[in-house]
Amino acid sequence: LFAREWLFEKGVVAASGLPVDGRIEIAFAGRSNVGKSSLLNALVNQKGLARTSNTPGRTQELNLFSADGMPFRIVDMPGYGFAKAPLDAVEKWNKLIRRYLQGRVELARVFVLIDSRHGLKKNDLDILKMLDETAVSYQIVLTKTDKLKPGQIERVKQSVLDGIQRRPAAYPFIAVTSSEKKQGIDTLRGFIARLLND
Ligand code: GDP
Repeated sequence: LFAREWLFEKGVVAASGLPVDGRIEIAFAGRSNVGKSSLLNALVNQKGLARTSNTPGRTQELNLFSADGMPFRIVDMPGYGFAKAPLDAVEKWNKLIRRYLQGRVELARVFVLIDSRHGLKKNDLDILKMLDETAVSYQIVLTKTDKLKPGQIERVKQSVLDGIQRRPAAYPFIAVTSSEKKQGIDTLRGFIARLLND
């Protein structure tokens, strides 16, 4: 499924710029620095696809990736919770994301990345709320688990599971990953493959 060459297709700053070919979209969201670029690169097995350093100019865009013959696009959502982000940038972010989530029937699922060392933070809960309100299916992906001991991973996994238990749009299985150690990447691919077969 991910053996083909994925390419950057376009960056979108407004919902009106989204493609209209009806292809399914799988999106990835998370706080700045959560390891989103690293995870996307690991997922498609291409080092430089998503940029691993967030340049401020790109933070407001939905970055679309596609591959020839693949039935879906990957959407890299702009990172949130950037400490120094000015208020109007946060508002722009909210507007773009809400529009995208509300109107995009092509969007099959949002994978919400959570740093395994930090667990669910206020900013994360804000986006989960938005996803629940817009009834977009989402699934939690724990990142950077190579930094934790197995017992610690179990604990954060359990606390995140508790945190999503009563949330209507949450898919109740968590992907536990380390891009660095390439762990959990095949499992994540499996979740995506299953999603496409639904
Ligand atoms: P993004 O801002 O969410 O796109 O995050 P990046 O992918 O750029 O990663 C942010 C930082 O976390 C970088 O210094 C990465 O090297 C580091 N990082 C990302 N994934 C992992 C991981 O699986 N394990 C470890 N130990 N570090 C990681």
